[in-house]
Amino acid sequence: MMFKTRFAPSPTGLLHLGNIYSALQCESWAKEHHAELLLRIEDIDFTRCKPEFTQQMVDDLAWMGVSFDGDVMYQSQRLKLYDKALQKLINMGVLYPCFCTRKEIQANTRHTHALDNYPKTCRDLNAEEVLERKQHTAYAWRLHSQKVSTMVANHDLYWLDGDEKKQWFNLDDMGDVVIGRKDIQVSYHLAVVVDDAAQAITHVIRGRDLRSSTPVHRTLQLLLGFSSPIYIHHALLLDTQGTRLAKSKGSTTIQSLREMGLSAADVRKLIKKASIS
Ligand code: GLU
Repeated sequence: MMFKTRFAPSPTGLLHLGNIYSALQCESWAKEHHAELLLRIEDIDFTRCKPEFTQQMVDDLAWMGVSFDGDVMYQSQRLKLYDKALQKLINMGVLYPCFCTRKEIQANTRHTHALDNYPKTCRDLNAEEVLERKQHTAYAWRLHSQKVSTMVANHDLYWLDGDEKKQWFNLDDMGDVVIGRKDIQVSYHLAVVVDDAAQAITHVIRGRDLRSSTPVHRTLQLLLGFSSPIYIHHALLLDTQGTRLAKSKGSTTIQSLREMGLSAADVRKLIKKASIS
């Protein structure tokens, strides 16, 4: 079987060294395994993603010499498919509408080690109350982790790592994560699972920062009847202070390095020398 992986950046800013490090991890894995490497632009968050960032990202990747197989997939063009998956989950009874504001959630949250600390305020609203509130309040859709536990078998609650070792997880550790956001009625989790299935991705290679999302993805795959890829979480590139590079912290962008006159080979060397964690 031909292996398939993907690089899936979100165009919420310009491509920085940390993103390119991730793209190069995907590229080198694909080369080593004679796998296809696809590019997916995760641009559903219209409040933060901008077309000019997408354009520059595609251009920077080409300049870096990272080549992709097939057509680029744009999540912003696939909203109907995410909605179909959302409706399926709603019909299965595993989602519930959540009317809470960010402020209300913060005020009521007791911190636990769960991925999502939502205090489950809206979990037990009765049907009448839900109907009434839906008329005048925007709402998100949350996964009812307790109901999910009655629909998926405990022996399926694992994901496979790069050594094909089972990484077990517990639904309580996941919490009632948002599957359909209030503003866009989809979430990163749902879109990524629908697309990894649509693109028949066999191996997901992504940063360690997303490791805690993998149980959510596996759970959605079980509910939606999708097969699960193998997940390889790579280390993260650190800046000179030893903290993780992130777009929001004004990390070095590829565009700025290009403007400084560096070549793609120079950038690759720079990344090889940088420290990871
Ligand atoms: N779009 C996500 C990001 O830029 C990555 C998604 C993934 O690899 O699953 O952080």
